[in-house]
Amino acid sequence: MASPFVDKVTIEVKAGKGGDGAVSFHREKYVAAGGPDGGDGGRGGDVIFRVDGHMNTLMDFRYKRKFTAANGAPGGGKRCTGKDGESIVLRVPRGTVIRDADSGAVMHDMSSGGDFVVCRGGRGGWGNKRFATATRQTPRFAKPGLPGEEHRVLLELKLLADVGLVGFPNVGKSTLLSVVSNAHPKIANYHFTTLFPNLGVVYIREGESFVLADIPGIIEGASGGAGLGHDFLRHIDRCRLLIHLVDVSGSEGRDPVEDFDAICAELSAWSAELASRPQLVAANKCDLLGEDRTNLERLRAHVEARGCRFFELSAATTQGAMELMRAAQAELDHLPPVTVYEADYVAPEPELGSPEEISIRRDGGTWYCEGAWLARLVASVNFGDYESRMYFDRRLRQAGFFDRLEAEGIRDGDTVSIYDIEFEYQS
Ligand code: GDP
Ligand code: MG
Repeated sequence: MASPFVDKVTIEVKAGKGGDGAVSFHREKYVAAGGPDGGDGGRGGDVIFRVDGHMNTLMDFRYKRKFTAANGAPGGGKRCTGKDGESIVLRVPRGTVIRDADSGAVMHDMSSGGDFVVCRGGRGGWGNKRFATATRQTPRFAKPGLPGEEHRVLLELKLLADVGLVGFPNVGKSTLLSVVSNAHPKIANYHFTTLFPNLGVVYIREGESFVLADIPGIIEGASGGAGLGHDFLRHIDRCRLLIHLVDVSGSEGRDPVEDFDAICAELSAWSAELASRPQLVAANKCDLLGEDRTNLERLRAHVEARGCRFFELSAATTQGAMELMRAAQAELDHLPPVTVYEADYVAPEPELGSPEEISIRRDGGTWYCEGAWLARLVASVNFGDYESRMYFDRRLRQAGFFDRLEAEGIRDGDTVSIYDIEFEYQS
């Protein structure tokens, strides 16, 4: 069954191809044959991820799963450069973790506000005006644009909250969030009212505030995939502290000690690490307790025996709510910050083509060299940077490229032309 809430989705993203360079010659009424004036192709558009602070689900990706940025336009005559392809911006909720779909490696964690360029557009090819030299005045060729990067990525929403509320459905999590923060979650007396995680900022005093997350109720067996809860546990993965709410009113005929243990078991089944996350335990709906405080005291003894701090609460009347929040803030002050996932994705060495498949074409003193391997190499090098140029030179040398040119008769001072790069050959 498709859930209205989407927090994990695989999509395909592809940047635009660079536009091809143009072959064109200047024409004018009284000029017999003008010089080359073919312009360069435009750059392909990028695919960019951007945080949208108002989003809290990946629902937008539920139906549309393929995103392609525009190609660069080809160059034109009269030195016209082709228009760059438009980039596309994909908006995601803060805390979305972007992974390589095949390996699962983290490419980027959208926790800070910055954009992440997941696929770069291909560079535009040079037009023939670039290839005019004193000795070669009518170049009849131009370079093709380079392909854009493409990728299959897994988006996973792991909300960024300091504190996560956990507990069975209907224990009062949404009510608590609504009375202590600026959030206005839906509250109703039936299970699973919360289908979307809600975040609220809890303000303690100047300079002291934290983000509190209300996630849908965990149900028993959730971590085994039995219910809604399973998917939602990922949202509290990053929380620094958990507030565990237990209904002690007996209003649903439940036993609070059993409930507490059941939730703890769910957390353990998800991960031992999550189960050992610091917890404050709050007995809620204390306003409904009559004379009989047995349940409350049984729970208190049980919880304190496990080393957790225990609080009495009535979210509905706000009794004890701020005291609980102040205790949470005090805990946070000495807990490590929210986990941000380090990128551990390493782009594989492009396997497209091999150095042996380079085609070499000679035109006077210029050697035109092409092939997928070369195209990839050129695309990966920043020629404005000395280290990069040295890398480029080394790769060509290792691949036996210069040996081949030597064998075919290249001489010092000849020009080597590789896509939009040209340099003078020196043995
Ligand atoms: P959640 O499923 O854990 O988010 O629970 P809700 O916050 O939606 O609350 C479920 C029901 O319990 C609602 O009818 C609330 O009004 C009620 N409720 C929540 N907290 C209290 C409380 O402290 N006292 C009483 N009497 N009712 C409460
Ligand atoms: Mg709720």
